[in-house]
Amino acid sequence: MSVILENISKSFNSSKAVSNFSYSFQEGKTTVLIGPSGCGKSTLIRIITGLTNPDEGTVEFDGTALTQQNINDIRRKIGYVIQDGGLFPHLTAKDNITLMAKYTGTDEKIIEERISELTSLTKFPEDKLSNYPAELSGGQKQRVSLMRALMLNPEFLLLDEPLGALDPLIRYDLQTDLKEIFGKLQKTVLLVTHDLNEAVFFGDKIILMKEGSLIQEGTITDFINNPAEPFVTKFIKSQRSTIEIS
Ligand code: ADP
Repeated sequence: MSVILENISKSFNSSKAVSNFSYSFQEGKTTVLIGPSGCGKSTLIRIITGLTNPDEGTVEFDGTALTQQNINDIRRKIGYVIQDGGLFPHLTAKDNITLMAKYTGTDEKIIEERISELTSLTKFPEDKLSNYPAELSGGQKQRVSLMRALMLNPEFLLLDEPLGALDPLIRYDLQTDLKEIFGKLQKTVLLVTHDLNEAVFFGDKIILMKEGSLIQEGTITDFINNPAEPFVTKFIKSQRSTIEIS
């Protein structure tokens, strides 16, 4: 799916959270959006998913601009995973995953087949499908959240700091599995993180944001060798414990 942001701006109380942001996501590739806390990442994601209206600009999916009229149709093509998973605590893992499919009247047999595909794809133990979120580990919850996002086979997958709350070992395993999943699915993926190491691991392209604006897009090599401004180098150096540059 082609996803294009055109001149998006959004202010809160006269302070700009997103400023004149344009970007065209590469189809079938993973783009990582990175930037310091408060730079406008979540606001941009909320605009892409239609949860927040921009003051200016448009979000286009396959050439169609997102509007209040088509938002429900477009949302069905977007899978969305948030940091804490956002699972309903009173529903089992399976009911969380299948909620939307049941709501849209998907056949029970198709739902069962899809669950089986997804548990195998995400390496989630089938015997835990009847557990409630509180009875799952952090990593398992995120695998459920990912299955829920993938249930209706979305064309665009958006993950907002999906690994941020996990301890390092679980995070490492899930990073490895997620990358394998993205490779298999070949969907257009946008992953948000503030961790440069993670951005380098996942990103076919990395886009760096500062104070609401897109500062640079490219690979880590571009960022290191041709920084668009001193902030790029400073941002990389601030994470030097994981990435060494001279
Ligand atoms: P990030 O996700 O990169 O941490 P955010 O998009 O959450 O950044 O925030 C960008 C800026 O917009 C911040 O200065 C934040 O305080 C402000 N902001 C975000 N949402 C709101 C809101 N609903 N009301 C007022 N200010 C907001």
